[in-house]
Order: sequence, then C-alpha cells, then structure tokens
Amino acid sequence: MSHTIYERFGVGTVINASGKMTNLGGSVLSPSVAEAMRLASQNHVDMDELLVRAGSLVAEATGAEAAWITTGAAAGIALSVAAILAGTDPQRIALLPDASFTARRAIVLQAGHLVNFGAPVTQMIRLGGGIPVIVGAVNATSRDQVDAAIGGDAAGLFFVQSHHAVQKGAVPLSDFVEIARRHGVPLIVDAAAEENLRAYIAAGADLVTYSGGKAIGGPTSGFVAGRRDLIAAVRAQGRGIGRPMKVSKEQVVGFLVALQEYLAADVALIAQRSARSARLAEMLAGIPGLSVGLERDEAGRDITRVALRPGPESGLTARDLATALASGSPPIRSRSHQAALGVILLDPRELAADAEEAIARRVREIFLGDAAGRLHP
Ligand SMILES: *Cc1c(COP(=O)(O)O)cnc(C)c1O
Repeated sequence: MSHTIYERFGVGTVINASGKMTNLGGSVLSPSVAEAMRLASQNHVDMDELLVRAGSLVAEATGAEAAWITTGAAAGIALSVAAILAGTDPQRIALLPDASFTARRAIVLQAGHLVNFGAPVTQMIRLGGGIPVIVGAVNATSRDQVDAAIGGDAAGLFFVQSHHAVQKGAVPLSDFVEIARRHGVPLIVDAAAEENLRAYIAAGADLVTYSGGKAIGGPTSGFVAGRRDLIAAVRAQGRGIGRPMKVSKEQVVGFLVALQEYLAADVALIAQRSARSARLAEMLAGIPGLSVGLERDEAGRDITRVALRPGPESGLTARDLATALASGSPPIRSRSHQAALGVILLDPRELAADAEEAIARRVREIFLGDAAGRLHP
C-alpha cells in the first residue's frame, strides 16, 4: 500500500473486496491497458474515425449490427432513450431533454427494475427525454400488466439485467422482447455489470448498454450496442445531451484493449478468481463466532464470493463486521448489500495480489478481541 500516486495528494487507498464498485474507482487496470492509455495520450486522432472503428469492434464482440462507445452504462441509458425519441433530427436533438415535440415519450419498466446504481435509473430515462412508466409491484409484475401499459404514448420498453433488480416475481426478458415486437416499439436492456456480451442482443434487445469499467475491466467507459438505425441516433446525440458525456481518446483506447483482454481471458480468469475465493475462505475458516462459506452470484454471473456470517456469540452483526473492516488501516471494503440478512461478502475480482493475508489478519483481529477491532467496531 506504500507509495501510491494518491498519496501525493494526501489520499489513501483501500483493499477492495467489494467488486467492481464505482465508488472505489471501478476496475484496477492491467498494465497493458494502462500503457495503452498512456500511448493514446501522445497523439492527436480524428475522434470520429476512432469512435466509428471502436463501435464496429464492439459490434463484432457483441453480435450486434452496430455499437457506440459511451462514458458508461448510465450515459448509455440516457443516450438510448434520447435516440429513440429524437432519432437523428438535429432540431429534436438540440431540444432534449425537453421532448415535448412528441407525444410518445413513455418508457415502460417493471417495478422490480426500479434500481438505484448510485443514481436512479429513472433519472437516466428522464435525462434522455423519456417519462418512466412503472408497472406492477416490486415483487410481483405480470406480463399482462406490462402489455396493457403499452399505449399510444409508449416510446419504448426498458429492462434491467442486474443483481440490483428484484430477482423474483419479475416478467422475464423473453416476454419483454415479445411485447416490444408485437407493439413495434424498441426494447432497451441495461446490462451494465453483466459478463455475457452477446446474450441480450441474441435474445432480441434493440439496444443494450454495458459498463466498460465493470466486468470488462477497462477504465470508466461503456457502450451501447444494437440496431444500426438506433445506434446512428445514439451517435447523433453527441451534438446534444451526449456532449457532457463525451469520451476521451485515452478512454476509448483503454476500453478497446481491456475488451480484447476480456474476450481472450474469460475461462482462465473465472477459474482463477474462484480459486482465490476458495483460498480466502480456507484462510478464514475456524475463527470462533464466524461462519464462512462460498456463495454464487445472486444474479447468475460466474462469480463465487466468500460469505461471512457472524454468529450471535460473537456479539457482532454483519453490519458491525463491515464497519470494522472498513475502519482499519488500510480500509477493507466488503459487499454489504445483504448485511441486514446477517451476511457480508468478499468479492475476489478486484483483490490485489497479497490482499488475502491482510484480510485474514484483520478478520482475526476483529473476532479474536483485538482492541482495534471488536471493542471499536
Ligand atoms: C453500474 C450500473 C449502471 C451505471 O453504469 P456506469 O457505467 O457506472 O455508468 C447502470 N445500471 C446498472 C444496473 C449498474 O449496475
């Protein structure tokens, strides 16, 4: 942890056991991605030519007709909605997010998909000029309810594929595809943190957006892939609401190299990170008052995490444990989405090379009554 660039500015670093978190800086870049960004910074380039080429490489990787690079998936949502509402019409593009030029502004999504990934997904829809129309209840929405919500004002449907979304009682993607096709409106899929880059295009989404800084491991970046006409409209938003979302040459090149590495690494990478979780679980086994297990990702991604459940005899709640880990030096950030259910998770994806030892030492301190841990969690 010594001599990081952050130190120069008086900022510490953290051990990231929580995964691909925007609030911890997304992914740590591979040396080749970092070097590619440095090299990209050394020349001028025609940005439009670079973006067109990058888009066709992403189209190839996703199986889509076309694609466009964005600053992230949140931008991808706003730009996708804007594309559907304004198309490539310069006057409409210049008016957004005021889309009063059309009566078709409704973007239909189910209540269980009303996620907040750091900002509300509905706000990104509004930013593109859409009006979110929420259907059903958080844990129970029916296909008929979605179907009935598609009226004359519907501009599109929106589906969130994410661990953030409620995983039960939801209308599946295949039904959204069928409903969108029957009504002749486009379907946007938010697959920000997903690992499968082809599944949602193959399933029939008209547009799908991903983060480049999550599963793909690139710098802050992202893309929208999908129908050629809609991607042309996404691109055209650069002269409108897309302007405050502009990408840099370094971002584009870093993303492209990360994408190449991601497509090449896949299987070996998954085996390697599962092995790290297993090793970390082994190192944490046998601590009194702590039950340790391995858990598969709740949204079906190929990620195995270490689950820590403090028992009642420890006097610690899962929340206490997360707080104690985060208040040590260096801080250890865990995944605490499910702390209310008595469990925190340690994610292997962003762990630095020697992080297991530091984590095991700290957890032992917390449970074995060290003053730095248990007494001041
Ligand atoms: C992270 C996330 C986003 C936002 O993606 P960025 O690339 O950070 O803009 C949107 N939707 C979901 C479901 C996410 O997990």
